[in-house]
Amino acid sequence: MGKRSSRAVFSFFSFLKQSINDLLGDENGYAENPKIDIESLSKSVGIKDVQYVSKEKIWEKYPYAHAYIDLDALIIYVREDVNPEKKRFAIAHELFHLKFLLTNNDGTALKIAARRGNTWKKENAGSEEAEGEDIADFFAANLLVPTERFVQWEDKTDEEIAHVFGVEQECIKNRRDEIENEIRLLASKMKPCPIDQFVDPAVKLDVEAYLKELNS
Ligand SMILES: [Zn+2]
Repeated sequence: MGKRSSRAVFSFFSFLKQSINDLLGDENGYAENPKIDIESLSKSVGIKDVQYVSKEKIWEKYPYAHAYIDLDALIIYVREDVNPEKKRFAIAHELFHLKFLLTNNDGTALKIAARRGNTWKKENAGSEEAEGEDIADFFAANLLVPTERFVQWEDKTDEEIAHVFGVEQECIKNRRDEIENEIRLLASKMKPCPIDQFVDPAVKLDVEAYLKELNS
């Protein structure tokens, strides 16, 4: 993937943060128990039910997926055979598909509503749908581990933080990197130099499609 200007990354990030703040509402910020109640949150934004079903039932529709959302019935189906952290992450991921319709470069809708696993991602690496899945995962991680809450725990070990937030340790490791980038982006906004000269090679998301939509 090519270079992204910090302005593009910052715009995308602000857009995504705003969506998450809208979702969390008063729940964002300090919390004694920082674990987001993702099922209640889903229902507060219109999901009728979250159902835990067999891997076979999910894979019939979406091979290798952890979950999918039926956008007509507003039901999220989650694999019952994965750990609680993966279940929570999958629900958060599906909320991205509820809120955002991803589009191809030609403007047609990308009809995706599953949370694909790593096997699928490897087989489909580089496709628009795979990039969409990465963005949905990024959204899910930010929703379950909001920056405002994370910073109150960051001196604890990954294991402790993962436990209180109800996510896998890998997710906390990624959040540490992402939050560092977020702070660098904020700092870069304050520099008196032309912002387009600041390029962050660590940010992996493709933001162009979002910005096109935002600016249109
Ligand atoms: Zn997905």
